[in-house]
Amino acid sequence: MRSFITHSAEETTALGRRMAQELRPGSIVLLRGDLGAGKTTLIKGIAEGFHAAAAEDVTSPTFTLIHEYRGPQATLYHIDLYRIDTQRELDTLALDDLMDPGSILLIEWGEKFDRLRREKGTEIAIEHLGGDERRIVIQ
Ligand code: ADP
Ligand code: MG
Repeated sequence: MRSFITHSAEETTALGRRMAQELRPGSIVLLRGDLGAGKTTLIKGIAEGFHAAAAEDVTSPTFTLIHEYRGPQATLYHIDLYRIDTQRELDTLALDDLMDPGSILLIEWGEKFDRLRREKGTEIAIEHLGGDERRIVIQ
């Protein structure tokens, strides 16, 4: 488990760029934290780290549910389950079909579902410490 404190959105994006070096294709990453914690901001950096998208092109998939960013080493799927409430709705997203040795699933609000919590992957928790300060814990 590692813990970081960031003091701006830019610092969180920079942390995401560094974290990208440790994420392996074929894995799942659950990002936990309240609305506005910085989950999407961290994913901007991860997408940049994979040369899959520029930070400004990574936007929240709150309504579209899944965004896809293709990089030379991996295809990133940025998934937001905030608006998904039932297992049946989750099933319609067919996330299993996205899991592939060449893809990484970055999932916001995935902890709502037992099935996703049980997946062995990386878990990142982001906590709002007040102002622009955030604690980011990776395990
Ligand atoms: P989430 O996806 O968790 O709902 P977002 O990443 O969409 O959150 O939003 C985080 C908001 O907080 C952005 O407006 C961002 O600019 C702001 N912010 C301020 N300080 C930080 C920080 N240290 N890390 C991440 N975001 C920050
Ligand atoms: Mg978000």
